[in-house]
Amino acid sequence: MGSLNQTDPEISCLLSLEAKRQKETINLIASENYASRAVLEAHGSFLTNKYAEGYPGNRYYGGCENMDATENLAIERAKKLFHSEHANVQPHSGAQANMAAYYALMSYGDTVMGMSLAHGGHLTHGDKVSFSGKSYNFIHYGVNRETERIDYQEVEKLALKHKPRLIVVGASAYPRILDFERFRRIADMVGARVLADIAHIAGLVAVGLHPTPVPYSDIVSSTAHKTLRGPRSGFILCRKEYASSVDSAVFPRMQGGPMMHAIAAKAVAFYEAMQSEFTQYQQAVLDNALTLGTELQKGGLRLVSGGTDNHMLLVDLTEAGVTGKEAQEALEQTHIVVNKNAIPFDTRPPRIASGLRLGTPATTSRGFTIEEMKTIASLIVKVISNIGDEGVKGQVKEEVLHICSRHPVPGIDI
Ligand SMILES: *Cc1c(COP(=O)(O)O)cnc(C)c1O
Repeated sequence: MGSLNQTDPEISCLLSLEAKRQKETINLIASENYASRAVLEAHGSFLTNKYAEGYPGNRYYGGCENMDATENLAIERAKKLFHSEHANVQPHSGAQANMAAYYALMSYGDTVMGMSLAHGGHLTHGDKVSFSGKSYNFIHYGVNRETERIDYQEVEKLALKHKPRLIVVGASAYPRILDFERFRRIADMVGARVLADIAHIAGLVAVGLHPTPVPYSDIVSSTAHKTLRGPRSGFILCRKEYASSVDSAVFPRMQGGPMMHAIAAKAVAFYEAMQSEFTQYQQAVLDNALTLGTELQKGGLRLVSGGTDNHMLLVDLTEAGVTGKEAQEALEQTHIVVNKNAIPFDTRPPRIASGLRLGTPATTSRGFTIEEMKTIASLIVKVISNIGDEGVKGQVKEEVLHICSRHPVPGIDI
């Protein structure tokens, strides 16, 4: 059989179109990034051919010696990177990592606390459409109306009242530091366990630019593909005492054979994250987010909680008189890709939303500078304050294409 191009011209063509789209757009989606060529090589490899159900040294298939070595490297690197006693690198995604963590820590129907989706939490933190909300009795905490930061007093009150078995700490749309130590103290008051979900902030945590949850959590779950810049997948860290419950929760309870190509790619990403350039990269992600936020504020836009401590910003468009949906669509026409997002206490439904979530991991991987972030902020303000103006959008698109042409996308050379 031939190459992709010969075998399947339709899919090959779609890949080319997507390469072009990625090259010709400014990607401000906070949960996306560009994996390196090395990560892509491992992920796109023939390791996809190999079944390796089980764990290193204890597989259900023959011929696993290289897979054992690969998975052991991924595990050792994850443990070293995050200073964790145990790691499981098999979860296929962040949602699966959370499912396995719940299996390891709770029984169906148990009471658990998590941040509400409407205030920045994740679907898997007990939303009613998710397996999590259907399987467990979730009590939700959120942010304070004035400060728009997590209301730790409310968390404490809810914990004392509901006596949860588990408290989940983590978010998909929260621009501030998470105080894991404080959550641990609250959990200890009621004998609850703590699951930290660092899907978004894993890269920052790895280099110490966000406080680590590892000493304060029973289990930590994460994705590899957001700030961490690895392949699309998940992993779990935990203390030794949970090692066997986590491992059996992942396999055989939740998944079948591990995706060894993804595990190899995770090993590569963990290796890359241990290099000093990666610390510089994460610092640049923060610097770019701060600049983007400050410039948007100068342009008259309001940021939820007044700013950011991490790689993302939540923009409240209420005063600009534009919905999240309108802003997302107008920006997309200018090749700036963002996502609409509910703001805390939003009065609009989620499919319209009053806000935008912006993040800098992807643009920073592409080498965008502080000066360019200032330009991008001014372009965003221009589009939002001239929302129906086709002429303005045309000009902005030209500028965007010009900026994009200066920065190749890592890993894409077609
Ligand atoms: C992205 C995310 C997940 C889920 O990751 P998937 O790989 O999309 O399943 C889980 N938790 C949080 C906090 C996230 O931001």
